[in-house]
Amino acid sequence: MKNKQFILSARPIGEPKETDWQLKESDMAELANNQVLVQVEYLSLDPAMRGWMNEGKSYIEPVKLGEVMRAGGVGKVIESNSSDFSPGDYVHGMLGVQQYAVIAANGLHKVDPALAPLPRYLGVLGMPGMTAYFGLLNTGLPKSGETVVVSAAAGAVGTVVGQIAKIKGCRVVGIAGGQEKCDYLINELGFDGAIDYKNSDVMTGLKQHCPQGVDVFFDNVGGDILDAVLTRINLHARIVICGAISQYNNTTAVKGPANYLSLLVNRARMEGIVVFDNAKHYGDAAREMAGWIAQGKLKAKEHVVEGLDNFPQTLMMLFKGENFGKLVLKV
Ligand code: NAP
Repeated sequence: MKNKQFILSARPIGEPKETDWQLKESDMAELANNQVLVQVEYLSLDPAMRGWMNEGKSYIEPVKLGEVMRAGGVGKVIESNSSDFSPGDYVHGMLGVQQYAVIAANGLHKVDPALAPLPRYLGVLGMPGMTAYFGLLNTGLPKSGETVVVSAAAGAVGTVVGQIAKIKGCRVVGIAGGQEKCDYLINELGFDGAIDYKNSDVMTGLKQHCPQGVDVFFDNVGGDILDAVLTRINLHARIVICGAISQYNNTTAVKGPANYLSLLVNRARMEGIVVFDNAKHYGDAAREMAGWIAQGKLKAKEHVVEGLDNFPQTLMMLFKGENFGKLVLKV
């Protein structure tokens, strides 16, 4: 059996190019003990994948040149050399950008397509949902009546952050690119305000929508937006550094916050988070979020693009704001 795979072939400088990967057709490896053969059905495309292409120390090893590009995914077990999985099971794991994954059984866990559509296990019930849940609740520590601002608000993490903050009784303001995304946040997700950072001034929008200041800022983008929000924070505000997508393709140094002394003045705290630290508690969080979905309090939105061959262009949609909700590639 042949397998189509995207192999990392160069370390990008700035924006990734199609030529940073090579689409290769190779023979399938034999299954060793405790390995499972999975037919990949959906791949999670995440901004973090840009970071995994860089050399250097991070929270996870970089993808090596010549290796299959790392990606989370869901798929169906075709063959199993493990007593934990049988053909026909659906599983989630780091399946990689390829049609078939030969993978150690201990890197997989089962998902149930009868409980939720498969792409949802890559969104609200998967890594981005977990990031929103633990980042907001354990680090943002929102209290009822407080104002929570979230950037990249119409994306995979942002939509969940804002909705959980609403569930917790907060005033929620999203920052997103374009009128359509801002309308969605207010009309569909129940946000109290939305700021279109592409077509309006963020400082003015923050003054208008956060008249009581900002208690929690869940930041996904960094750069100028982080600096703008820092000017509006309240005493003892919590700033969750989840990501900085505006900086990932920089060819110059990352732009740090010029207004950081606002943390001093306001005795505020800025803290980075990595979702994987909460892995032991994913099950509990997924159950609570599935309950919110069932009660209509939490809406999920996936943006599915078809075709493994379209991987490079599809990944780049994240950096152009062309995804609306969790970006998923149907293999
Ligand atoms: P996403 O929000 O679904 O997609 C990325 C969005 O970022 C785009 O749709 C775009 O929305 C916005 N964006 C792109 N370039 C931008 C720029 N220059 N300035 C402002 N906004 C920009 O992606 P996601 O998966 O939810 O990830 C969001 C952030 O969370 C990323 O920074 C990611 O690295 C981070 N993250 C961190 C962890 C962790 O453990 N710390 C885990 C998961 C994700 P607009 O149309 O609104 O511009």
